[in-house]
Amino acid sequence: MITCRDLTELVTDYLEGRLSLLERIKFQFHLGMCSHCRAYIRQMKQTIQMLGKLPEEPIPPDIREELLRRFQNWKR
Ligand SMILES: [Zn+2]
Repeated sequence: MITCRDLTELVTDYLEGRLSLLERIKFQFHLGMCSHCRAYIRQMKQTIQMLGKLPEEPIPPDIREELLRRFQNWKR
């Protein structure tokens, strides 16, 4: 079982298709149960679309920070 925190750390790998099968199953299982994380993923995908493509570099730290910050607000 992964936590919301783990999920935010795996999200870029997930979107880039770099998770192992087992990780992907755990990831999707968590998404199935957690509406916060579903919203987080949706936000992340929108951000990526806005940028036009998956960044070659990891998600820029400022965007990542912003998403994490919003995500933490949802959890309160
Ligand atoms: Zn979650």
